[in-house]
Amino acid sequence: NSLFFSLSLQAKMSRPVQARRLEGIDKNIWVDFVKLAAAYSKVNLGQGFPDFPAPDFLTEAFSRALSGSHMLHQYTRAFGHPPLVKVLAQLFEKLLGRDLDPMTNVMVTVGAYQALFCCFQALVDEGDEVIIIEPFFDCYEPMVKMAGGTPVFVPLRPNPPKDGKLMSSADWQLDPAELASKFSERTKAIVLNSPNNPLGKVFSRGELGLIAELCVKHDVLCISDEVYEWLVYDGKQHTRIASLEGMWDRTVTVGSAGKTFSVTGWKVGWVVGPDRLLQHLRTVHQNSVYHCATIAQEAVAQGFQRELTLYGKPQSYFVQLPKELQQKRDWLVQSLDGVGMKPIIPEGTYFLVADISQFKSDVPDVPNSDEPYDYRFTKWMVKNKGLAAIPLSAFYSEAHKNNYTNFIRFCFAKEESTLKAASDILQKWKQEKTSS
Ligand code: PMP
Repeated sequence: NSLFFSLSLQAKMSRPVQARRLEGIDKNIWVDFVKLAAAYSKVNLGQGFPDFPAPDFLTEAFSRALSGSHMLHQYTRAFGHPPLVKVLAQLFEKLLGRDLDPMTNVMVTVGAYQALFCCFQALVDEGDEVIIIEPFFDCYEPMVKMAGGTPVFVPLRPNPPKDGKLMSSADWQLDPAELASKFSERTKAIVLNSPNNPLGKVFSRGELGLIAELCVKHDVLCISDEVYEWLVYDGKQHTRIASLEGMWDRTVTVGSAGKTFSVTGWKVGWVVGPDRLLQHLRTVHQNSVYHCATIAQEAVAQGFQRELTLYGKPQSYFVQLPKELQQKRDWLVQSLDGVGMKPIIPEGTYFLVADISQFKSDVPDVPNSDEPYDYRFTKWMVKNKGLAAIPLSAFYSEAHKNNYTNFIRFCFAKEESTLKAASDILQKWKQEKTSS
């Protein structure tokens, strides 16, 4: 017995098993909220993915690839299946107005997620500062930290319209002096996400010009996450910061077939940028994942070939998808406004942030809890109303979380029946409120 006891003591390691770079980044909002949504939600408008089918032309391309050449079941070129990098180069030549080499200016990744990981690992060093605009897609902060960098946060500040109209994501703006104050000789890069998750803000040319000016002045790189580039509403234009003067050479632009073609599960993403930056991303990619599924890349390549031939035409998916999503956005705006959950009208993405300050009396107070109101509200809502959303403060740094606890984020890339079910829940809730 005692021999067994001493052996088991020896077998247990007493020193920490995890690498130091993981300290403080082990908590993740999605783990908790995905679990809660699975257990309680009748309608899940939490996590960001469509519940409607992918376009036929793309799933058909996948089927053709599956039963086509047996070589499509094998490894392909590490940095991107040749037909895909070629068509991406053709498309981005058009969008950026410059010649691109498919082999050196484009790299295919396992979703935009891995593209971002490659950017931070390849470009950020111990002690480097990286500016992140709040609210932000939550993985930027841990990814900067894992690379040894220090995130420096600058918030978009809400300026509610004076005329009592609903707020728009355009009313959330950077303070130019505050932004400028974050740049120093330690700044290596800024992360830009336009259209922005979670607000749906589409940065204007003027706002991008200001960021570009600061990048050039301080010799800073720009990691530009543009996964929602085609999801822009009300005739607004998405401007690519890499197309602004002085920016091509210092910008990596990240994209996602998951968001572009409503196939988030395929996990095909890419980076477009100058070879002087991409060569380092290739080193990370080569030594981590090597490449992503050949068949998915082949099908996405065919999807882009179709889009190139239909570019700007009404049948183009890049035209049809935002048209459909804009209607869904308007539907959700109306339903939320009707019950007093004030929506902030998004200019882009498939997310919508709503103000829940009028619902304080619905949610029971938890004595001695330091959990922010938006977390408590979201948990209470999914358990009691069956409607899942995500608290906005999850998209803020620890230091600024407590300033933004009156909002939650919904995803409206959903079937009409899902949005109708959400609207029914809200209506019933409103009736209960008025009759009590
Ligand atoms: N960036 C942003 C802003 C996102 O919202 C997401 C997905 N939610 C990603 C990157 C990751 O995209 P992918 O699924 O292609 O990895």
